Amino acid sequence: MGKLFAILGDIHANLDALEVVLADCREQGVTDYLCTGDVVGYNACPHECLEIVRALNCPVVMGNHDHYVSSRQNLEDFNPHAAAVIEWTRKQLSEEEMCFLRSLPFVATKMGITLVHATMDNPEDFGYVFDHLQAEAHFSHQVTPLCFHGHTHCPMIYEKQLGAVYRIDAQDFKLPIGRKYFINVGSVGQPRDGDPRAAYVLYDPATRMVHFRRLEYDIAAAQARIREAGLPERLAQRLEVGQ
Ligand code: ZN
Repeated sequence: MGKLFAILGDIHANLDALEVVLADCREQGVTDYLCTGDVVGYNACPHECLEIVRALNCPVVMGNHDHYVSSRQNLEDFNPHAAAVIEWTRKQLSEEEMCFLRSLPFVATKMGITLVHATMDNPEDFGYVFDHLQAEAHFSHQVTPLCFHGHTHCPMIYEKQLGAVYRIDAQDFKLPIGRKYFINVGSVGQPRDGDPRAAYVLYDPATRMVHFRRLEYDIAAAQARIREAGLPERLAQRLEVGQ
């Protein structure tokens, strides 16, 4: 049987979304998982999501929330909502889980596929890639033909061919040979492209097809967990609008 990759990221402690995504992966026949980081932050199940992601035994790269939670970074410059969740998450995790997060690499490669949370242009600074100029800065560091990322929570395709960089809307896509691709897989746990459904990507290396998957999940259940944990109400509300 051929390989089928699932690329998941920005899970952000949303257990309800993650379970639906993984059920879909099993149904689709996924053989290998890749994770673009930010397993924790924003939602109320960091421990459960970490346990599930670690059991997948797959490459995971460091997201900014994974970094902030595990680094004991001073949070004075953060917006209060972000700081509140980071503080809360630090209290939920064991020292062993903190060590796991701290040990995540900024960049990983598996079978010629590169993973980075934000951009390979200084990956430890977590810059946002929203346009072709920011993608161009990334591409000067991408050596493999294919790289997946997240961070903006908006699915997107960036293509480099003959020195030019193009931004293409997320759509099922057969990757032509001889070009480079930098593909944003969207967010499992907190989509921000106006579509509240959980997002992830399938990649079939035999056919070179990339599929952008969107799945409905029990948003009300995720919201109830946020409220029960006493996390900011805004984090519950944004889930239903996908912003
Ligand atoms: Zn994120």
